[in-house]
Order: sequence, then structure tokens, then C-alpha cells
Amino acid sequence: TNFHELGLDKQIVATLSNLGYETPTPIQSQAIPLLLQSRDMIGLAQTGTGKTAAFGLPLIQMLMKDPKRPDNRTTRTLILAPTRELVNQIAVNLKSYVRGTPLKINSVVGGASINKQQQMLEKGTDILVATPGRLLDLVSRKAIGLTTVRYLVLDEADQMLDLGFVHDLRKISKMVPKNRQTLLFSATMPKAIAELAKDYLTDPVKVEV
Ligand code: AMP
Repeated sequence: TNFHELGLDKQIVATLSNLGYETPTPIQSQAIPLLLQSRDMIGLAQTGTGKTAAFGLPLIQMLMKDPKRPDNRTTRTLILAPTRELVNQIAVNLKSYVRGTPLKINSVVGGASINKQQQMLEKGTDILVATPGRLLDLVSRKAIGLTTVRYLVLDEADQMLDLGFVHDLRKISKMVPKNRQTLLFSATMPKAIAELAKDYLTDPVKVEV
């Protein structure tokens, strides 16, 4: 199969071709059609399998179906990841996929200037990639609200639990609307992740590579 057969539009397929992506990876082949059907998903996959594009491409396509300017201090998509490095890597990858579209991607992590991040979020964003602690700091400053979140991604969920983010995740989950599409990716599926998934996801499909 190719990316077009998975349901991606010509424009995105052309962007991927420019990046040298001709053949979907296994997680992409499995995940993309299901995510375009708005399914919640549990993905068992490691970094290096192409999972960022697996969730990023369908989200970008769905956001493009409704390419409105974001309201100030809001985001339609929230991607949570455990570390600065991973947040930055996700943002860099997604930025290469939205080239030529009006979609805006921002990332926020601890250890960087919160004032700058606050300014950056003033005009709103389409996709916000964040570590949980810094996101909550920005929420408490009213730099960002989460009531417009339509898509929520928990990436490397097992690592987020290992790093002690479970309370932050619970807080954040109470701030986002119930009516949303939620994706959880994890390299392993310990009991705690299964419980998290039960609380946050609705009738999820499981995809494993
Ligand atoms: P990830 O697992 O999301 O960290 O992706 C691993 C690397 O594979 C990234 O550098 C991507 O740019 C690259 N990549 C993802 N999907 C494809 C694909 N279908 N074809 C070629 N490279 C890809």
C-alpha cells in the first residue's frame, strides 16, 4: 500500500514524497485509516517505528478539513510527551509535515523561558506539543486553555508514568472536553497503562507493531 491508499490527501502525500517517504511503515499502515475514522487508539510501538507520522498525518489532515484560525490562547490538538527531547523531536517532525498549510505547531517544555512560551501561545495554535508539568504551569497562568482540545495524544505513556506524571495527566484529562479523540502510545503495556487507557479512551482499537 501507499499513503494515498491509506486515505491521505494528495497534498500530504506530495509533502511526504518530498521528504522521501514513499512507503508507509507497519504502524502507519495500521493506524492511519483507523485514526481518519476518528477512532480512539492504543498503539504499542517504540520510537523509530514511524509512530509520530502515524498519528501526526491523520491529525493534520483532519485539522485541515476545518482550517480555521485558532482563538487566542487555545489549541485544537494536545500532544503530551515525557521529555524535552521527545517533545522537540515530535514538533520538528510535525512541522515538516505541515509545510505549505496554514497550521501552526508550537512546543513547550520545562527549563525554557515560560514568558516566551506564554507570548508564543497568545495567538493560539493548532497543535501544541508539551511536557505535562510545563503545560500545567502555562494553564495556571492562563496562557493556554484546554476547552477547545479536540485531539489528545499521550506519547510514550509508560515513560510518563515512570517519571511520575500520573497526577499531572489526571489534572489535564479533567480540563479537556469529553468529546474528543484520544490516542495513547506506549512501548509497554503494564497494568497502570491499561488503567489509564480505560479512564481516558473510548472503545479504543489496539494497534501493535
Ligand atoms: P518515529 O518513530 O516517529 O520517531 O520516526 C522515526 C524516523 O523515521 C523519523 O526520523 C521519521 O522522519 C522517519 N520516517 C517515519 N515514517 C517514515 C516513512 N514512511 N518513510 C521513511 N521515513 C520515515
